[in-house]
Amino acid sequence: MNPSPLAGLYKLPLPERVARLAEWAGLSADERAALDAGLSLEQADSMIENVVGRFALPLSVATNFVINGREVVIPMAVEEPSIVAAVSFAARLTRAGGGFVTRSSEPLMIGQVQILDLPDLDTAGEKLLAAKAKLLAAANEHHPTIQKLGGGAKDIELRPLPNTPAGPMLILHLLYDCRDAMGANAVNTAAEAIAPLVEQLTGGRVNLRILSNLTDRRTARAECSVPVAQLARNGLDGADVARSIFEAWAFAAADPYRAATHNKGIMNGIDAVALATGNDWRAIEAGAHAYAAREGRYTSLTDWSLRKDDAGQITHLHGVLEMPLSVGTVGGATVAHPTARACMKILGQPHARQLAEMMAAVGLAQNLAAIRALAGEGIQRGHMRLHARQVALAAGAQGAQVQRIADQLVAEGNIRTGRARELIGNE
Ligand code: NAD
Repeated sequence: MNPSPLAGLYKLPLPERVARLAEWAGLSADERAALDAGLSLEQADSMIENVVGRFALPLSVATNFVINGREVVIPMAVEEPSIVAAVSFAARLTRAGGGFVTRSSEPLMIGQVQILDLPDLDTAGEKLLAAKAKLLAAANEHHPTIQKLGGGAKDIELRPLPNTPAGPMLILHLLYDCRDAMGANAVNTAAEAIAPLVEQLTGGRVNLRILSNLTDRRTARAECSVPVAQLARNGLDGADVARSIFEAWAFAAADPYRAATHNKGIMNGIDAVALATGNDWRAIEAGAHAYAAREGRYTSLTDWSLRKDDAGQITHLHGVLEMPLSVGTVGGATVAHPTARACMKILGQPHARQLAEMMAAVGLAQNLAAIRALAGEGIQRGHMRLHARQVALAAGAQGAQVQRIADQLVAEGNIRTGRARELIGNE
């Protein structure tokens, strides 16, 4: 496969980097300007309460992603060094295996309705199932746009909870297709709309009516196959590196202490894309970790395996990430925030399902980068090099001085703000 059209972007000075990206993505002058100073104070003031300013984060792009045969450049908003470099590196490794193949479920969210004071949960459940058509119609009275697009309330399911600290209760799940919206508002409105009918049908009392962030009906899946030759390094055979990566994954699969950190690495990338596109990263985080524990024990969100040829030789490292990803491309901050709109343009204006699939590919690549580094040299060497720049900045270094001081800190193996201040003072 040819190199990415934006390969080497990181070597360009910032203004040229922006110009090259803007040309590649076809950004207008306004969109290009929005990459830096997107949100006005007035816009911020209308988004949330008690606004006193705006908080800026670095906005970056990850390169080398081929997703379903298409070159994709991934905008990422994040403060942590190494994330963007690592994910771009891992994406490059996957290119020789064709990049990422992705798919996703229908965008079905779950609205929960909590029903109490029922003499018999089974009888109440039967009454609700018998009135399914009526309930779906009541749920669909609002949000005609989503319905016209083929979305809306699709089904109901029941979850009896006979033993809770507050006694027995029946939970109705309203399955709601949100199309391109994240859908929190649509789902909550629909859950509230059916509550009076639920009470009437069951004779019970409805308490909560709210979406679930465990969106296990709204998942995205990415997979990749890395030829082992791509993994060879420092005199190490690629198959040996693949085996170490597999062992690193097996540790996370078996141990929640390791899995928490392993999954945090996956979310490093996914959250950064969520932020850049104005999506609700707390919702995605909540869904990811609940899904990781869905079988009663918290485990790895990714699956890695070794593919062998007929002679038993390892040929490929194969990875899969499948997880809930409730993201939208309409509504919320995705359209209200000018920088998010420009980022959507960089991504090629994906629909919600395509965006979720891209995020799954980013999570998988981020995981590959992390476990490859951990299973080899350890992450500190590369990480400290980038961390040294932040230390230099924190100590007051400016312009070209930042890299100079950072290099000196790394050379001395002493990456501390105090030392950086001394070095600045000596210049
Ligand atoms: P929204 O209320 O703006 O809904 C999107 C609207 O866009 C739809 O109602 C529809 O009328 C319209 N639309 C146009 N084209 C569409 C298309 N192709 N597909 C679907 N809809 C289309 O936004 P939302 O997604 O319902 O709400 C998202 C916000 O809710 C986020 O900001 C999130 O932070 C917040 N929220 C989250 C939670 C939670 O996660 N627990 C709870 C409450 C609120």
